[in-house]
This record gives sequence, structure tokens and C-alpha cells, in this order.
Amino acid sequence: MTPERYEKIRRVLSRRQPTLSVLMDEVHKPHNFSAILRTCDAVGVLTAHAVPPGGGALPTFDATSGSAHKWVEVRRHPDAMSATRELQAGGVQVLATHLSQRSLDYREPDYTRPTCLLLGAEKWGVSDEAATLADANIVIPMFGMVQSLNVSVAAATILFEAQRQRLAAGMYDAPQLAPDELGRLAFEWAYP
Ligand code: SAM
Repeated sequence: MTPERYEKIRRVLSRRQPTLSVLMDEVHKPHNFSAILRTCDAVGVLTAHAVPPGGGALPTFDATSGSAHKWVEVRRHPDAMSATRELQAGGVQVLATHLSQRSLDYREPDYTRPTCLLLGAEKWGVSDEAATLADANIVIPMFGMVQSLNVSVAAATILFEAQRQRLAAGMYDAPQLAPDELGRLAFEWAYP
């Protein structure tokens, strides 16, 4: 471990956003799962949440992740409803990405608040139950012939809006992690 590498690890951790996350509900294609993690790393997500497809294993990481899975912890949950309730109990607003005319434009919410984006499975999207339980439903307006975006593209679009708002609010200027937590993670990342 060179001093430069350790410095980079500390710099990245000092910009991590522990109050921004995603909940992937049965996203089953490895390239989508991996692309979402890569975007999470880029915007500073510390922990991503995932409900494995069919209760089995998480989709295997492929080259698409660009090693992001090493830098973004993935927490497994048995189902989207219990995960949503747990996050909400911790003061996190859960925003369901839902293709509905009643959904808010994705630029409307305040992403400087503790926020988790609920992302749906490629085929059937977010369930109606989970969309109802969420604090709000959001949509990226679509004006083309195709009804929806690829889930990793939708995740990136919304996460970078969150990044834009958080940059404007100065949330990348000072560490959001407590000093001892930052130090512990720096050691773990440096000596896995
Ligand atoms: N037939 C599914 C439906 O009606 O929800 C389409 C699912 S879409 C391919 C997979 C996921 O990508 C969605 O659950 C959502 O998380 C995200 N997504 C795709 N297009 C979106 C959009 N325009 N706005 C918000 N989220 C979108």
C-alpha cells in the first residue's frame, strides 16, 4: 500500500454519502446489477441494498462493475417491503421509481434528505404494494416509443440528480462519515 493509494482511499471515503442509497428489488441481470453498483461508487453511495432474485444468490458481478463491488457494500434483504420499512424506520425517505402518471418528476424530491431509491426488476418493475408503501413515487419522463429505460440507466439518471443537489448543498465538501468510521473503513479498504 503506497501512501498515495491510502490518500486516495481516504479522499474517496471523505466524499461517501452514507445517507444516499439504492434498493434493488430482484434486479436479476448481472450487467445491470454491476452497472448500478458502479454508478453508486461514482456518486458516493456507501451501502446498496438488494433483494436477491427468487430469494437466491445476488447476481454475480461481471466486468461491468469495474471492481465497484469492492467499494460499495451490498446488504441483502428478504423482500422489498421489509427493507422499505426498515429504511423508513431509520428516517430514510424511500422513493420508488414507478412508471405511473401519478409519479413525481424525478427532479422534484429533495435528495439532500436521507434517501433510498427503490429500483424494480427488469420485467415487472416495482410492485404496487412497494410503490404504495414508499414515501413517494418518481419517474423520468419518457417521450419515445419505448415505455421504460434500462434499470441501470434510470438509476444513473436519478443518482446524478441526487449528486447535483448534494454538491450544491456542500455535502461533498466535508466528510459525512464520523472520523472513527472513516478510519475503520480506510483500514479495511487498504488491507482487505
Ligand atoms: N414493465 C416494467 C414496469 O412497468 O415497471 C418496466 C420495468 S423497467 C425496465 C425496470 C426498472 O427501471 C423500473 O422498475 C424502474 O426502477 C426503472 N425505470 C425504467 N424506466 C424508468 C423511468 N422512466 N422512470 C423511473 N424509473 C424507471
